[in-house]
Amino acid sequence: MTEEAAQSLAERKMQFLYALRSKGVTDARVLTAMEAVDRGPFIRGLFASRAYEDMPLPIACGQTISQPSVVGLMTQALEVQSRHKVLEIGTGSGYQAAILSKLARRVYTIDRHRRLVQEARDIFEAQGLSNITAVTADGSFGLAEQAPFDRIIVTAAAEDPPGPLLAQLKEGGIMVLPVGQSDAVQHLIRVRKTANGLEYDELRAVRFVPLLEGLGKET
Ligand code: SAH
Repeated sequence: MTEEAAQSLAERKMQFLYALRSKGVTDARVLTAMEAVDRGPFIRGLFASRAYEDMPLPIACGQTISQPSVVGLMTQALEVQSRHKVLEIGTGSGYQAAILSKLARRVYTIDRHRRLVQEARDIFEAQGLSNITAVTADGSFGLAEQAPFDRIIVTAAAEDPPGPLLAQLKEGGIMVLPVGQSDAVQHLIRVRKTANGLEYDELRAVRFVPLLEGLGKET
């Protein structure tokens, strides 16, 4: 890389962090994790040059890598602590899981597309992120053999929070997910599981790909 190219990459990365802060990602641990995980390797092909823009971008299997500020806000809302075991539904590119891996003890991530899971695993290995397990499955059913989880994050929109995920959340746990019909308005919500039941709060309007049933066609 020339000196000029290196400088412009450094500038783009600084702008990336600035955009996160200006959109409300203010938690120091989350910002540090997002600074440590380069979004570049998670985007292949045509759109790779736009990795440091605050935009969702297309990835394989007709899916999208989420907008970084939304990743940051969801991660912040999840209040992840270093001893936590976290479940993510919707591995996609693996970017969100990589950020979670910097904050939690253990991360399990599930996608219905085998190809996305394989590509994400390759990046995790290349980056030395050894506390992530990526699984090909229908994530609506969670991961019973590793339950319960301290935190659950869903990065595809369902009409309602899937029952098995609520069941696999620890008491005292938090789940963050988009709910609503896929092409209508969706809301990001946070569910806290307390001794007295579930508490919901609505965070903001968002737009995610839908949570679909079964495995992806190519698998
Ligand atoms: N978190 C990702 C973006 C996810 S896009 C990232 O950081 O890049 C949403 C993903 O959810 C897609 O990859 C899609 O295949 C997956 N998905 C949709 N329905 C699913 C289901 N029932 N189980 C598991 N994954 C699902």
